[in-house]
Amino acid sequence: MDNIQSLVFSSPADAVRAIAPEGPMAIARPHRVTAAGQWFRENFPGEVFYAVKANPSPWVLDALWAGGVRGFDVASEAEVRLVAERFGPEAKLAFMHPVKSRRAIARAYHDYGVRTFVLDTEDELDKILAETNGAKDLTLMVRLAVSNDGASLPLTAKFGVSAADAPALLRRARGATEELMGVSFHVGSQCMRPLAFKAAMLDANRAIIKAGAVVDIVDVGGGFPAIYPGMQPPEMGAYMREIRDTFEQMFVAQNAVLWAEPGRALVAEAGSIVTRVDLRKGDALYLNDGAYGNLFDAVHVKWPFPVKHIREGGSRAKLAPFKFFGPTCDSIDAAPGPFMLPADIREGDHIEIGMLGAYGVAMATGFNGFGDTTTVVSEDAPWESMFGRNTADQAQAEGESGVIQLSDRKRKPRRK
Ligand SMILES: *Cc1c(COP(=O)(O)O)cnc(C)c1O
Repeated sequence: MDNIQSLVFSSPADAVRAIAPEGPMAIARPHRVTAAGQWFRENFPGEVFYAVKANPSPWVLDALWAGGVRGFDVASEAEVRLVAERFGPEAKLAFMHPVKSRRAIARAYHDYGVRTFVLDTEDELDKILAETNGAKDLTLMVRLAVSNDGASLPLTAKFGVSAADAPALLRRARGATEELMGVSFHVGSQCMRPLAFKAAMLDANRAIIKAGAVVDIVDVGGGFPAIYPGMQPPEMGAYMREIRDTFEQMFVAQNAVLWAEPGRALVAEAGSIVTRVDLRKGDALYLNDGAYGNLFDAVHVKWPFPVKHIREGGSRAKLAPFKFFGPTCDSIDAAPGPFMLPADIREGDHIEIGMLGAYGVAMATGFNGFGDTTTVVSEDAPWESMFGRNTADQAQAEGESGVIQLSDRKRKPRRK
């Protein structure tokens, strides 16, 4: 579905002019993914596993690899194969879905060398042990249910062993492997409060103390935020400091290591989607991309995504509110917005929807025959960045929020 163009443009508008794509266009900014990966490697006090589901595009995986990221959080046999075949044994794969098919476990272990598996029940542990023929070289991670206060997208209802059942499961996992055992959790996606990581880590600490088991890894999961209009998170360094400080208070701090599984934060700001207006009806714009395409999140999470009008020669009209309809015949393929765009926007114009590097192309379907997306590279800067400078401390020195607005540098294309 993703037909990659190796073409490089200085901006999405240049790409539209050159290609005039029939379908939506995914804008890739690999330099931003590499910078985000480097930032996490330098500032997260442990090992970084990229959550592949956020965006499994080859350009993302390669850009992270270029930034030194070697860990990948995979959730299916297909994701295991994708990463293992691309990077070989140098990639470190962690199978972090708490419910795996037996075949996926067996293939991951025997064919692709995966040794790290997560579980949140005894039944899943039994499956893992059976399908690996009672392997003793497993790294077993126990997924804990933790509070999702502070997350914009809570993920707590589906996975994680309860505080009451965690100690017994931790003891059993400890006894089942001669290698490493750890705990993991997810504070919820787009987590706006660094203190949420502290609360979850202290939950984990209580479970570990109750279990009386030696724990080698504390995996704080994903949930690190990106910047959406009206959703300005604290600077990323504040999350790193909270995690580092809380880890030092944990019972296991002397012997354990930290892991994280960022998805959104590494890729959101590096991608956007360019869609074309195929018809205008009053304040409704009928687009060639929508909820069944690359705009699933833009439609369903109901956050304000930033938009930019693209037309040869531009428009001088005032901004007005618009709603979007996607190309399929389904009436839920609609986003009420309001999206602020020039009042004279018309058929044939394009719209760049920003901050869609995460959970954009990753979620597209081919429903109704739409969804064929062309990917091109753009060398411009993203609209906003959590990683505007190289280190958290520098970012902090830049100003209170530490968030660097890149809009003023947008015109300066970066050379590779
Ligand atoms: C989705 C997911 C992630 C990534 O979450 P983000 O909110 O995108 O950072 C990490 N770990 C697990 C287990 C996940 O399911």
